[in-house]
Amino acid sequence: MTRLLRFALVSLRRRHFDFFANAVSSILDLFGATVKDAFGERSVVHCNICGWTGNSFYRHTGPGYDEKNSLCPGCLCQDRHRALLVILEKCTDFFSPGKKIVEVAPERNLETLYVNQGLDYTSFDIKRRAMEQGDVTRMRYLDNSIDYFLCLHVLEHVPGEKEALCEIHRVLKPGGCAVVQVPVDWNLPQSYEYPMADPRDTFHVRRYGRDFIKRTNLPGFEVASKSINDCLSNEDINHFGCSREPVFFLKKVSAT
Ligand SMILES: [Zn+2]
Repeated sequence: MTRLLRFALVSLRRRHFDFFANAVSSILDLFGATVKDAFGERSVVHCNICGWTGNSFYRHTGPGYDEKNSLCPGCLCQDRHRALLVILEKCTDFFSPGKKIVEVAPERNLETLYVNQGLDYTSFDIKRRAMEQGDVTRMRYLDNSIDYFLCLHVLEHVPGEKEALCEIHRVLKPGGCAVVQVPVDWNLPQSYEYPMADPRDTFHVRRYGRDFIKRTNLPGFEVASKSINDCLSNEDINHFGCSREPVFFLKKVSAT
């Protein structure tokens, strides 16, 4: 609620009246959802991260996004976090013992889950709270030292995209994998850079289009993608409220 009120006020100050309208309507929806959860059917949806069950997930609204049935009131995860967990569990050996895992800009709810499961996990961020402070374009980690590097909704904020990808490649072990998510505008054939971080697009520095795989398919990487459709039935996708946004796997196949 506090976050929505702040978003409404900031939108008004910036004269982003469409965002202001979304914020007000989202606040009203929040009241409706809370009442429904108090008196209605509570087992329609289930959060696979914290175990919360309810009538539906809550609306997630901010500058440049307005997603229905996304936010879990139990752990504040979004639909893309729940999908990612299923994909990591079903399509990778991420949770096998002994994997060295590093994440830039940690997703709080999943960070807690990794730590609670005793994984060899480290998070860092340039500004926000994380286990360490660090810059994805100049990391402290040794060459060939990491099995999984998580980079979720980060690259669209990083001006030095190529430097970041080269650094990620450097620190991954041969056969290691970067797990990458970015917002992709599938109507856009070619990604483009904003002149400056765009306040109407969550302060992203670029908008990714359908060429995202081509942009990341640098020498030494083999890029593939998975989506929740590969892992769960439609019924389960709805039950767990999972995003269908693809997750990209950048596997280090050679030293260069
Ligand atoms: Zn949850």
